[in-house]
Amino acid sequence: MKYQFHPESQMMSLGYSPEWSEGAIKCPIFQTSTFVFKNAKEGKAFFEIAYGLREKEENEKVGLIYSRINNPDLEILEQRIAVWEKAEDCASFESGMSAITTVLLEFLKPGDLLLCSKPLYGGTDHFVNFFLKSIRVNVIGFDGFENETEILERIEKSGFAKNLAMIYVETPANPTNSITDIAMCRSIADLYLQKNNKEVIIAVDNTYMGPLWQHPLELGADLSLYSATKYLAGHSDLIAGACCGNKSIISRVRVLRTFLGNMIAPYTAWLLMRSLETLKLRMEKQAENAIKIAEFLVNHPKIEKIYYLGNLRPEDGRQYELYKKQYFSAGAMISFDIKGTEEDAFRFIDNLKLIKLAVSLGSTESLVEHPYTMTHAGVEESHKKQMHITEKMIRLSVGVENYNDLIWDIKQALG
Ligand code: PLP
Repeated sequence: MKYQFHPESQMMSLGYSPEWSEGAIKCPIFQTSTFVFKNAKEGKAFFEIAYGLREKEENEKVGLIYSRINNPDLEILEQRIAVWEKAEDCASFESGMSAITTVLLEFLKPGDLLLCSKPLYGGTDHFVNFFLKSIRVNVIGFDGFENETEILERIEKSGFAKNLAMIYVETPANPTNSITDIAMCRSIADLYLQKNNKEVIIAVDNTYMGPLWQHPLELGADLSLYSATKYLAGHSDLIAGACCGNKSIISRVRVLRTFLGNMIAPYTAWLLMRSLETLKLRMEKQAENAIKIAEFLVNHPKIEKIYYLGNLRPEDGRQYELYKKQYFSAGAMISFDIKGTEEDAFRFIDNLKLIKLAVSLGSTESLVEHPYTMTHAGVEESHKKQMHITEKMIRLSVGVENYNDLIWDIKQALG
């Protein structure tokens, strides 16, 4: 009888066999730099596979060599993330930025054209606009409100249409929750594959929704990227990253990772495996709390505008349609404009008693931050205006606390 267990049922044991470790029910931390080969012939065979000198024979496994190349904690973690993502494979990294920059470096060369959604997470934005441009990668941006015809016009006008190599998307965008249509990106990538006979890779930063609420690969992306620091880890106690896709694309990413040496460490991988056991429980509770908080904010006289997917209505047109098509939940990230000025926004933040002021998101504790002066401080003034990032905007990452306590805190802080 063929029966497929759900990801949440597989997280406690997938990829690990207790026989390897004296029957220990949990996968131990393999805190080792290197692995002993049984004999020289085995060492030679492992390296042949690791360095792609020959194809694997049937049932031949990639042997453990050295923890920069592979390690049981890293490999088991990757299998488990791939299950959540419904991906063939996953590569894990020491940070979200490591995953993102490794992918950008692997698939972009000087002269190529990169098409990016706007706004991007500040770290990614900096790498794209300062580093990639400095090595002569051409970059153009678009926002979630532009349609395919407008974007195609932009590509053609750039003068580098022949060199389109990658479409990089963050959806929903941080901090405004604006949505980019991943299927439309696929259609653009396919069009240029035909025109230029050159593959266009689509990479989606799925940090904001996690593998529960959006599946970029099913929507047409080639790669789904994570700051695993956020929902995947979920406890504000580690920094990590991940990248999911099919086997051949991930093997390219893994080769560059081996030489950059930016893989995840065994202890961090072990902590993340713990986190994945409660991923669904945490994220569902966070989304439920977000619904209650959004309901409260909508009716509050001191709130001017709310950016929350759950508040989109049919009259919002394409953004509403995309929300219904791309997402399984409204998520747990809410941004809102307070009536008044930066001073009013700061007063609200400083008045909070339970919710902490810190940048990051997706953790068990609720966090607020002020995008205008914090996460997006480096974004040009005109871009901030264009993207509706104002001095009165607060970004709230909703945690797993009792929602009555969160609402009490927000209410008293608004005064
Ligand atoms: N992508 C998004 C959407 C983020 O919010 C962040 C970090 O805040 C990153 C990527 C970078 O991840 P990390 O801080 O794990 O390097």
